[in-house]
Amino acid sequence: MFINNLLNKKTRILLFLFTILNSSLSYAEEANQIIDKGEIVIQEIQDGAVILLFHSFGDDNQPDINISTEQLDNLINYIKNNNFNVIPLAQAVEIIQNGGKLPNKSVVITIDDAFKSVYTVAYPKFKQAGFPFTLFVLSGKVNDNNSAYLNWNEIIEMASNGVDIQAHTVNHSHMTKKEIKENHNEIDSNINDIIKNTNIKPIYFAYPYGEANQEIIEMVKSKNIVAGFSQHSGVYNNTSDQYYIPRFPINEKWGTLERLKLILNTKPFKIKSITPNTPYIKDNNPPNISVVVDDSIDDMSQLNCFRSDTGKVSLEKSDKSFQMVFTTPFKTGRTRINCTIPNKDGTYKWLGLMFTNDK
Ligand SMILES: [Zn+2]
Repeated sequence: MFINNLLNKKTRILLFLFTILNSSLSYAEEANQIIDKGEIVIQEIQDGAVILLFHSFGDDNQPDINISTEQLDNLINYIKNNNFNVIPLAQAVEIIQNGGKLPNKSVVITIDDAFKSVYTVAYPKFKQAGFPFTLFVLSGKVNDNNSAYLNWNEIIEMASNGVDIQAHTVNHSHMTKKEIKENHNEIDSNINDIIKNTNIKPIYFAYPYGEANQEIIEMVKSKNIVAGFSQHSGVYNNTSDQYYIPRFPINEKWGTLERLKLILNTKPFKIKSITPNTPYIKDNNPPNISVVVDDSIDDMSQLNCFRSDTGKVSLEKSDKSFQMVFTTPFKTGRTRINCTIPNKDGTYKWLGLMFTNDK
């Protein structure tokens, strides 16, 4: 009992630290203490998929969006040695959207932007491990023959070996700040670039920086895209917004094996509804966020939420719903909120939210 309480306390601290950037040292210390005790017990995921989001590999010039080759090797070995199923993104989306059952411990690998290291570092390793992955292609840099990015021949070669190619705009602009016409063009030209060069028609779209508003989401829907992907934590499940699907962002700071173990073993946090149902802050700042949870959640006593800029959120809980009480407005830019409920085995149910504010 004492150990359990200790674990929960320490892991809560750990989760809080995940939401606060620039806390890597404390985080690593906490994580090591937890993992060293061997207290994370593995349970099987059956109704959700952990989607990992990467950008570049083995390029320590940009630690915010990179993971080292050593971290990548550790991740691959851990996944291989612990009975996870790395499944194609399409399999996860089709099963979740059609109400089927996923393989146990499903994991999906996605990579955004098309950096050169996808081809030189990640692709050979994932190929050898037998791990499928999806590449959301930023086509402007590829068209420009920028040497830091992939060229179309490399993308075609990877696609012919099973790599899934999807859409991520031409110029990686902050879409919520752009005119509607410009956003149409960002998506249409990106899709056309991909079709023209690879003969593949994208059906998934990843929002640059994970930023979107209702207008952009409706625009994505109107272009025969069947799923939209963001950049906030959480386990993808059938109660996720299918046009704002969470992915766990991985970089050097947040790509330690300890954190990866925690993420890979995280469970879906299912909800019935959320208000406001938009990832964009317009007039109400701070927003009034309330969540009705799914029947699968029967104990909210240990529910905690943390906001990336202010820390622990005060909550008004009832039996099957909770409301967040904010005293300060959301800052300009992106704000993430991570809500977790510990399971008895040391794993977590994890609901992530992200809001963009341009004011
Ligand atoms: Zn991107």
